Amino acid sequence: MKKIKHMGLSTKIFIALLAGVVFGLLINFFLPTGVLKDTILIDGILYIVGNGFIRLMQMLVIPLVICSLICGTMSIGDTKTLGQVGVKTLVFYIVTTALAISIALALGIFIRPGMGLNISSVESGDVTISDNVSMVDTILNIIPKNVIASMADGDMLPIIVFSVFVGIMLAKLGSKAATVSKFFAEFNDVMMEMTITVMKAAPIGVFCMISRTIATIGFDAFVPMLKYMGCVILALALQCFGIYQFLLFIFTRLNPITFIKKFFPVMEFAFSTSSSNACIPLSIETLKDKLGVSTKISSFTVPLGATINMDGTAIMQGVAVVFIADAYGIELTAGMLATVIATATLASIGTAGVPGVGLITLAMVLTSVGLPTEGIALIMGIDRIIDMLRTAVNVTGDAVCTTVVAQQAGMLDKKVFYTKEIEE
Ligand code: ASP
Repeated sequence: MKKIKHMGLSTKIFIALLAGVVFGLLINFFLPTGVLKDTILIDGILYIVGNGFIRLMQMLVIPLVICSLICGTMSIGDTKTLGQVGVKTLVFYIVTTALAISIALALGIFIRPGMGLNISSVESGDVTISDNVSMVDTILNIIPKNVIASMADGDMLPIIVFSVFVGIMLAKLGSKAATVSKFFAEFNDVMMEMTITVMKAAPIGVFCMISRTIATIGFDAFVPMLKYMGCVILALALQCFGIYQFLLFIFTRLNPITFIKKFFPVMEFAFSTSSSNACIPLSIETLKDKLGVSTKISSFTVPLGATINMDGTAIMQGVAVVFIADAYGIELTAGMLATVIATATLASIGTAGVPGVGLITLAMVLTSVGLPTEGIALIMGIDRIIDMLRTAVNVTGDAVCTTVVAQQAGMLDKKVFYTKEIEE
């Protein structure tokens, strides 16, 4: 008992993940379909506890983003530094996404996961694709017409614009707006404390979410798709443990292994929730407490990244494009590949980091090169699992960018980064 108490959160979440997989498999294989399995376990206890936990995290996202963004902007103060941080972040996000999809396309073309696939052997579902918002609207929607409506809808980009604006004005007004500044600073502390408290329940939430997913899908669905999955996983691993760590080292000279070790709980959390948005509070907190990144930077880059930087998603889309093209016997030309890189990079901008959104933007990518959107049905069955993996990569990309930008702006405390973790 004492031992469990002293285990770090990361270890507890990891154990919960493994236990969840085992429990899910047991339900899937040994419990017959019926009230106990479906109503009581899968759609009852596991659903309520797992989703209840995600909701707790989601509840924190909007107020936390607003407060920390206002405080962060206010304390950076001058618009020149803010502009530099903004430009660097955007460039980093766009370049890494373009790289991610290029790697995916290259690997896809090398491995050819869709070759020899008999389309009819793969279980397919109905695809419903919502209307795509045009690029012009995406850009215009960054400016909120009504900030309360944006908050209610959880639209991250307009919220970011508004909060940064408020922060700049508070810095400009200085002592004249001291009460408002203090209010946001204190509210921010409250939100951070709430995050830490809610995270104590993470192992239980993670256990329930994973076992429910595994109990519902089982492993049978994967067999025909193993090549596709393998290809996506390989590209994700290259991006996460190769490209990111290389960039981190080149730009900051920090130890990538320390980075991964300390950031791992956020990756596990992203894996079990499949939502970059739900990870925002934990990510900001981990970057601050374990990696020494000032919230002045992370409060801006993390929510922005959750919305516009989805490298893992871009990777899935790259492999999916090659897979679907092969499955339908369509040849991909160099021009088509270039279009895919451009559309997939742009497609993620303006879509929130929530479960399954990558499949919707995939429709946009497929349409851009004239591939059949029905092809999405081929990969739908196993997308839940891939969503978990790619979300972990998405949040890692945001964190690496945040660390690089913070280091360059002199807002990273190396002492904290290299402090050995004390298990709480
Ligand atoms: N679930 C992913 C995220 O939240 C998005 C996606 O690829 O579907 O980052």
